Amino acid sequence: MISLNEVSKRYPGSRELALQSVTMTVGSGEFVFLVGQSGAGKSTLLRLLFREYLPSSGVITYRGRNLARFSGGELLRYRRKIGMVFQDFRLLKQKTVFENVAFALEVVGHSPQSIRKSVPAALEEVGLLDRMLAFPAELSGGEQQRVGIARAMVRKPQLILADEPTGNVDPDNALQLMELFAAINRAGTTIVIATHASDMVDRLRQRVVQLERGRIIRDVKRGGYSNEP
Ligand code: ADP
Repeated sequence: MISLNEVSKRYPGSRELALQSVTMTVGSGEFVFLVGQSGAGKSTLLRLLFREYLPSSGVITYRGRNLARFSGGELLRYRRKIGMVFQDFRLLKQKTVFENVAFALEVVGHSPQSIRKSVPAALEEVGLLDRMLAFPAELSGGEQQRVGIARAMVRKPQLILADEPTGNVDPDNALQLMELFAAINRAGTTIVIATHASDMVDRLRQRVVQLERGRIIRDVKRGGYSNEP
């Protein structure tokens, strides 16, 4: 689905490479944990996948097509296939749970009828149908992130990219969120999660790609957070 070939990224004004000769593929339907210390390059990799940045060198392809060559229209269509989940949730405070999820559809021109159908279905999947009319401030961190996941899912993306999605929730909620991602993945969506949550990574036993100073130092099929078995 996605393939990176010798991808490096240097930020303007920076002497170090944030990513160095990264080569990897993510197959359709895979679940990948990106791990590594702060500054290892995890966010940079996610941002390159979203094509927020272009690589300084190397090529990233999506279904065989070079992301760097996308026209404006192709880039929009590409990004619509991707759901993003953020550490700080990024919910709109003045909008209800329903409205936050609906907004993701409004901005891409869905009809009110389609929104009335799709939003409750997405909220049901994350177990928040009964909090549809609440405001973000009335929800726990774990619940707010489930809204974030519903918002990412409601467009039925092919790929979900999550940057430290459990960074602001307690361990019990973190586990629930990771199990939710696993369920979404079992239903067919490809998922890439950058995380420090070592217990979760150890528990879920998915593919683990470890970065260190911008390089991949480990890529294992059913791995744990660290090298130890
Ligand atoms: P991680 O997500 O693993 O913590 P990042 O991808 O955020 O790592 O960072 C990788 C490296 O790139 C770090 O050295 C970081 O300081 C640097 N970096 C990240 N974002 C920027 C930026 N916008 N400008 C300059 N350097 C950056």
